[in-house]
Amino acid sequence: MLFSLTILGSGSALPTAERNHTAQVLQMDDRVILIDCGEGTQHQLRRFGIKFQKINHIYISHLHGDHYLGLAGLLSTFHLQGRTRSLTIFGPKGLEEITRLQFDYAETKPGYPIEFVTLTDDKYPIYEDKVISVEAHPVPHRIPCWAFYFKEKPKKRNINKEAVDSYNIPISAYDRIKNGGDFVLPDGTVLKNTELTYNPPPRRSYAFVTDTGFNPVLAEKIHGVNLLYHEATFLHDMTESATDKFHSTARQAAEFAELCEAGQLVIGHFSTRYKNADLLLQEAREVFPNTFAAEDGMEILIAV
Ligand SMILES: [Zn+2]
Repeated sequence: MLFSLTILGSGSALPTAERNHTAQVLQMDDRVILIDCGEGTQHQLRRFGIKFQKINHIYISHLHGDHYLGLAGLLSTFHLQGRTRSLTIFGPKGLEEITRLQFDYAETKPGYPIEFVTLTDDKYPIYEDKVISVEAHPVPHRIPCWAFYFKEKPKKRNINKEAVDSYNIPISAYDRIKNGGDFVLPDGTVLKNTELTYNPPPRRSYAFVTDTGFNPVLAEKIHGVNLLYHEATFLHDMTESATDKFHSTARQAAEFAELCEAGQLVIGHFSTRYKNADLLLQEAREVFPNTFAAEDGMEILIAV
């Protein structure tokens, strides 16, 4: 199954020519998921060749402008392009009201159904289907804010063709075996599932953590995540300012990655005070070597 992340915006509050506001596209199989939608996100979707009519879920972390002001424009474009497929938007209280108001004052009724799911502090799994599940975890920020955790569901075991053929096991039994069941031969011999199957591919996961400080409680909840995106707005010499503003330093992002034993770390949401991400990356790598700095347009395949 395809599982990849495309960074659409790697900057923080102020956009620059190189770094747009926060937005990312997560592709899981045939699902195209948008995470945050800063101003200009629809331009970035075009620029990086994402088939954005395929987006069926949008997750908004919080209502600071650099994380959602592109939403009204994108929803209008969907309408103008004649979209009819429904869209689900997960976001904080108030997002539905703000969005509907914009359509109301434009005297426009979107030509496709939009369902809003309001995030709360006590309901972590907010979505699941046969293949994926999504959790939203509240994180401390100046206003309510959530981290998102996307996980593949456990997969079925793989049939060992040679083994099942050698015992003449009928195809009708495969499904039960793939689900972990043993098989009993006509003479009563029990064949253990491990004799008949291989382990399934491991589950993969992605966590999006932005606009918050160092958070050990969250690290427990996403422990073992394969790919972690964590904001790193400042260098460590600005820890005090980062803490005051409920943001993180590059070192804190790396310490967080280490604490949750992440496979790989991508840092982003860089302050415009830094000309490039070199020092931020260097600082993070001193603690967590498998770190990369987000760039607009960067695509990362999520692997175990
Ligand atoms: Zn914010």
